[in-house]
Amino acid sequence: MKESNVSKVLHKNNAFLEKKREMKEINVTQALAKNNAFLEELREKSGQDPGQCFQCMKCTGGCPFQFTMDYPPNQIMRMLQNGLIDEVLDSYTIWTCATCATCSARCPRGIDVAKVMDTLRVIAYQKGTTVKGRNMHIFHTAFMSSVKSHGRLYEIGLALGINIGTRKLIQDTDLGLPMLLKGKLSFLPHKIKDKGEIRKLYDYARKIGE
Ligand code: SF4
Ligand code: SF4
Repeated sequence: MKESNVSKVLHKNNAFLEKKREMKEINVTQALAKNNAFLEELREKSGQDPGQCFQCMKCTGGCPFQFTMDYPPNQIMRMLQNGLIDEVLDSYTIWTCATCATCSARCPRGIDVAKVMDTLRVIAYQKGTTVKGRNMHIFHTAFMSSVKSHGRLYEIGLALGINIGTRKLIQDTDLGLPMLLKGKLSFLPHKIKDKGEIRKLYDYARKIGE
């Protein structure tokens, strides 16, 4: 390597290390106290204990959606153990998890990781304070309202709900309009039989969640 290149690499490395040093300090005592209360709530709601995880990574090894996540499932468990609650609730992971339960089937500690993800999603939704997850929150609300109203997804309604929620009214129209013109999207919602049954499911889910 030329000497000038070595200087560049060292300079880049120093800049990176400097940035790392600037990262916020964590008050471990406060984080652990907050963690204990949160873990208690999580254990009660999910019936699972992330404290049992011993980081074998089998959940992550089998997760088909890991490529969409900012933290893999084993790391989420470790973050819970270490009190990084805000980071967990603000992660994409809890929203992009597809609840396929592969992780739960593979866990040698018998932890239902999918149930943990599900519970974290509900808590994050109820708190409504996530930053990264804000658009996920809007998507989730629009998606669930659409299925509740029509019995299945009404794509244009979903897109409008997201655009209004994110205040980006013409977002993705370059994709939506050609699809509409080619008949890939329907102007009107599809009709299904027994829409009332879907409403009953929603009512039941709300009741057991209270
Ligand atoms: S339930 Fe979620 S975290 Fe577990 S394997 Fe499936 S997608 Fe991954
Ligand atoms: S498979 Fe179970 S024990 Fe292993 S890292 Fe995942 S949650 Fe932890």
